[in-house]
Amino acid sequence: MSEVVVVRGRLVRESSVVDDGVVVASGGRVAVAGSVADAVAAGFGADVEQVPPAPGTYLLPGLVDLHNHGGGGASFPDVTTAEQALPGVLEHRRHGTTTLLASLVTAQPAVLLERAAVLAELAEAGEIEGLHAEGPFLSHRRRGAHNPADLQEGSAELVRDLVRAARGHLRTMTVAPEVPGVVGPGGVAEALVEAGVLPSLGHTDGTTEQAETLIAQVRAGLAAAGGAIGPLTATHLFNGMRPLHHRAPGPIAACLAAAARGDMAVELIGDGVHLDPATVRSVFDMVGAANVVLVTDAMAAAGVADGRYDLGPMSVEVREGVARIVPEPSSGADAAEGAIAGGTAHLVDVVRLAVRAGVPLVDAVRAATAVPAHVLGLSGEVGALVPGARADVLVTDADLRPLRVLRHGAEVSGVAGSRDDVVDTDVVGA
Ligand SMILES: [Zn+2]
Repeated sequence: MSEVVVVRGRLVRESSVVDDGVVVASGGRVAVAGSVADAVAAGFGADVEQVPPAPGTYLLPGLVDLHNHGGGGASFPDVTTAEQALPGVLEHRRHGTTTLLASLVTAQPAVLLERAAVLAELAEAGEIEGLHAEGPFLSHRRRGAHNPADLQEGSAELVRDLVRAARGHLRTMTVAPEVPGVVGPGGVAEALVEAGVLPSLGHTDGTTEQAETLIAQVRAGLAAAGGAIGPLTATHLFNGMRPLHHRAPGPIAACLAAAARGDMAVELIGDGVHLDPATVRSVFDMVGAANVVLVTDAMAAAGVADGRYDLGPMSVEVREGVARIVPEPSSGADAAEGAIAGGTAHLVDVVRLAVRAGVPLVDAVRAATAVPAHVLGLSGEVGALVPGARADVLVTDADLRPLRVLRHGAEVSGVAGSRDDVVDTDVVGA
């Protein structure tokens, strides 16, 4: 672990780029991140000398994905062993996501508890940072790819059971404020904050006022708890929400206002499918990069072939990289059929697309690194290349294609051209 690793390139910091940048990792931690002169001054001159300058590459902090259902053929909401989930974690890691939350989807309570217990093993092994529960306290109307039969009213008891089953590794949970039992005393939001789990507002058909109520309650609860985590997030803003209308503004208006105040961080699935690039660019402009979290909402097909996949209890068809719920012929007309069912991009792709949409590079990177790290209470540990942080480094070419990934200072294998090496062993129901 005392091995010294030196990488050079254009170092992307929170608000600037160091053109001839250097990251020196020692013992799995960042020893120096700055200019060549900084590294020389810290006593690493001899080490740096052995590595040529690399002006055509970027050095980014390892990416942090708060919303991710799988990849490489593995579906986190469907795994019955930790081994089945690992290919999904590694698929994203090879593309630079060194910290991720494994996201569940709405399912029967017993299934959620089982999955949480399995994925907690991966958290305990240090492979994932923890779990995100997307549901089951969500809007029927805005359920997207979630199984309508498994949606339910808010239950603080189920929250506590889930926290226990996840052995402390449940980190966030998506809730809709208008669902009975979510806001107010004794509700789900209160139980989450008490357990140190961050509520995330989403899959909601609620009013602006209902969203404001949840945001205010969580904000006060987090402050009373000492503010170690937060702010609360909006689960993929715009997707799975009542659209913004000027006479019926719905939750989006409340989320944008809260983000502009610094009381919320809004997730954006900036993959070119879920949102128009102009929406992504505009939100960065409106609320500032410090209040945006880029996410993938990736599902099993990320990094592998089109086809039929499971997403919890739902069947999903992926065509040309776009995942949609498969309509059931027996169920008749239904607004949620054909709904987009997660993404197939890696987070580095989302960063690249945000930059192409017109978001400054440092802002796009910040929204995929420092901001989600802050939300999880991990600032200084991950999400920024600063002395003492985990030596999680994503090296890319000038077009933000991954060339090399370090995690805890160790080389992640299979990075360049890994797409061709991936064997889809876990494709279900094809
Ligand atoms: Zn999701």
